[in-house]
Amino acid sequence: TRTEIPTVTLPGGEKVVALGQGTWGMAEDPARRADEIATLRHGLDLGMTVIDTAEMYADGDAQTLVGEAIAGRRDEVFLVDKVLPGDASRRGTVEAAERALRRLGTDRIDLYLLHWRGRHPLADTVEAFRELQDQGKIRHWGVSNLDVDDLDELVELGASDGLVTDQVLYNPTRRGPEWDLLPWLRGRGLPIMAYSPIEQGRLLGHPALAAVAAEHDATVAQIALAWVLDAGDVLAIPKASSLDHVEENRDAVGLRLTDAQRAELDRAFPPPQRKQALEIL
Ligand code: NDP
Repeated sequence: TRTEIPTVTLPGGEKVVALGQGTWGMAEDPARRADEIATLRHGLDLGMTVIDTAEMYADGDAQTLVGEAIAGRRDEVFLVDKVLPGDASRRGTVEAAERALRRLGTDRIDLYLLHWRGRHPLADTVEAFRELQDQGKIRHWGVSNLDVDDLDELVELGASDGLVTDQVLYNPTRRGPEWDLLPWLRGRGLPIMAYSPIEQGRLLGHPALAAVAAEHDATVAQIALAWVLDAGDVLAIPKASSLDHVEENRDAVGLRLTDAQRAELDRAFPPPQRKQALEIL
């Protein structure tokens, strides 16, 4: 028996599991496709029911792969998708969402994000989000890779009503958002979505994480995830493409870092002392 996955709460009160599954890099290699689909389905069995995808990934084919993985189980899933900035005009956003729905084989996206800021005015993208919401094609909307100045602009435009999250790069080696971005979101009651929570695998050899992992009889990936989830209002979306990895990630839930371990990790990965521009992968 596993510890239940904690939840984060969206403004409005809806609860969503704090540990989901990423899909960047999936659907690139036909030889891996069956394993990727089996992994996503196993992750659903384990309760990791947030699936994060984007029209960018494999040029839309990751959406098709997700559609195959969730076929017959749509109601279990909290489906997150993203519109490319180049498509994020008033009309383009609506069209991108409609393409996404076809590929995903569903009638609704639970959370639709602007992938990063591009040339189209934020207000136009948000207007399109609202239209999609009115039509029931998306349930919630949010942004990704927006730093505080962009979020402030959304507020100034009067376009921040309904924003539910900002999906950003956050892990022990990317603590810049703790300075101002995480407080901005927390101050408004918005959960944070952490992408690349294990730094795309680059964290796996880190000695400080390895030392803590040894104390827990856990793996480095699990300690990185436990660290990201520790605050309680962060939703992490590690990407795994094997059953072993997805199970390991699931079992990061329930690992509790001690104060001494948190302090040790603070020494290895110092928190920001000043504003750092938001980093992007
Ligand atoms: P992650 O930090 O999730 O790392 C993924 C890598 O770690 C893969 O190589 C995976 O290998 C490996 N891995 C996963 N679990 C384990 C484990 N338990 N032990 C060892 N290795 C493991 O990086 P991502 O960049 O994929 O980020 C996660 C998701 O966030 C993306 O897939 C995407 O959905 C989203 N994202 C969003 C961005 C945005 O701009 N909004 C930008 C980047 C990511 P394997 O595949 O072999 O299991």
